[in-house]
Amino acid sequence: MSTNTKYVITPPPQAALAIAGSTDLFPVRRIWCVGRNYLEHIKEMGQDEREPPFFFAKPADSIVPDGGTAPYPSLTKDMHHEVELVVALKSGGRYIPLDKALDCVWGYGVGIDLTRRDLQIASRELKRPWEVGKAFDASAPCGPLVSATKIGHPKKGKITLKCNGKVRQDGDLEQLIWNVPEIISKLSEMVALEAGDIIMTGTPSGVAATVAGDTLECEVAGVPKLTVKIGPPLK
Ligand code: MN
Repeated sequence: MSTNTKYVITPPPQAALAIAGSTDLFPVRRIWCVGRNYLEHIKEMGQDEREPPFFFAKPADSIVPDGGTAPYPSLTKDMHHEVELVVALKSGGRYIPLDKALDCVWGYGVGIDLTRRDLQIASRELKRPWEVGKAFDASAPCGPLVSATKIGHPKKGKITLKCNGKVRQDGDLEQLIWNVPEIISKLSEMVALEAGDIIMTGTPSGVAATVAGDTLECEVAGVPKLTVKIGPPLK
């Protein structure tokens, strides 16, 4: 850009995630999500468990930070929570080999893939895109990140979601059908991954409706906790 070139509107703010125990931030470029990556969840959704998982995306600015409130979205009567391990990338590439995939990981967090389930299922049946069901405003609550330097690369450990204090989802990372290196490698066949991309890695069983007034608490062993509230719909 030449020195007298300027943006005609104010550039939108950089989406970012907190770093646990620090004032530093992780800048978020894109949010990728894995569909169908825990066997029990595939069964509860009535899908073929032999089908490979697939990817979809959410806008970077759909993040809701720890302690935040996600307003109940428009158009739906059946919003569901899906607790997921979040992987944050410090580098990327195309056709990343399995044995190099973890070198791309900056760290980990826990997030919720909020889903307008009624609209997701309707678009699936009509063979239409999934954005209406998955990529809405405030659809990606995500807690603070912790670096892989501190905790390593978790391969097992509890992943849970409580709604108003009651356990709804209770899985283990070792139930992931495709593990983190496989997810990164496979996704890098579809797009060039870059530093700042984050990946929601799929949800264990127990997905259920959540409504305004709910408090959702998510935990993955060794990773900073996430607490968010579901707020009333925006007018
Ligand atoms: Mn999901």
